[in-house]
Amino acid sequence: MNLEGKVAIVSGGAQGIGKAISLLLAKHGVKVVVNYNRSEKAANELVEEIKTLGGDALAVQADVSNFEQAKHLVDSAVSHFGTLNILVNNAGITDDALFLRMTEEQFDRVINTNLKGVFNLIKHASKTLLRAEQARVINISSISALTGNAGQVNYTAAKAGVIGMSKTLAREFASRNVTVNVIAPGLIETNMTKDLPQEILDKFMQTIPLKRFGKPEEIANAVLFLASDLANYITGQVIQVDGGLVI
Ligand code: NDP
Repeated sequence: MNLEGKVAIVSGGAQGIGKAISLLLAKHGVKVVVNYNRSEKAANELVEEIKTLGGDALAVQADVSNFEQAKHLVDSAVSHFGTLNILVNNAGITDDALFLRMTEEQFDRVINTNLKGVFNLIKHASKTLLRAEQARVINISSISALTGNAGQVNYTAAKAGVIGMSKTLAREFASRNVTVNVIAPGLIETNMTKDLPQEILDKFMQTIPLKRFGKPEEIANAVLFLASDLANYITGQVIQVDGGLVI
């Protein structure tokens, strides 16, 4: 897809990996709806930054785990920019505990944001996406969905669910030229990982063949590729961006 003038929603698009995705798409001519939940200041600053660079963007508050708020996000994007071509489901949280200690609330909160949130946005966006000549859904999962990760039964269940959902939707949406793909990041330097104990970081580092953690921009590069014409014939796939952590 030629990206100039296309419209994208990036959930959780104001900081971390989402910010890098919003900025890179905007630099390639995409009008970006920067969704945020709590980071209002960061979202407004990012919209200003994109406009200063000559792009166009809009900040919209919505908790993606809430069905009505997800609708508000999609409706705001379509009414402001007239259509929607690219949906990037990036919003996500962790709330780790070993299974024996994990509460029902911890499980529900992570599933509701990381899995139900993806359903909510695709559900509300699907009519517009399916009407577009060409459209993309790009979902951010995690390599931990592929391997499992002690302490993350909620997170890995949600992220594996995103992969299953994406493969099914790739089949359902293909006849309308809407592709659905997944990016599974490895360990990326953001707020999500900054408080991990040093011994866990060291353990990860030993198992990453490229011997470094990833940068948000390296996930954004994969999103840009999947959003572009270069990926016209790719659907239902999981692309790992993890420095070789899971081979
Ligand atoms: P951050 O914690 O830096 O950012 C999380 C983002 O999700 C924020 O923009 C936040 O918005 C948004 N968010 C959280 N809850 C909601 C909600 N209910 N509604 C809307 N937005 C919400 O994490 P990352 O940038 O690292 O993570 C981005 C994605 O990448 C996540 O899906 C994560 O699971 C995935 N990932 C990250 C990895 C890593 O190593 N960092 C590895 C594998 C996957 P706000 O600040 O406005 O509340």
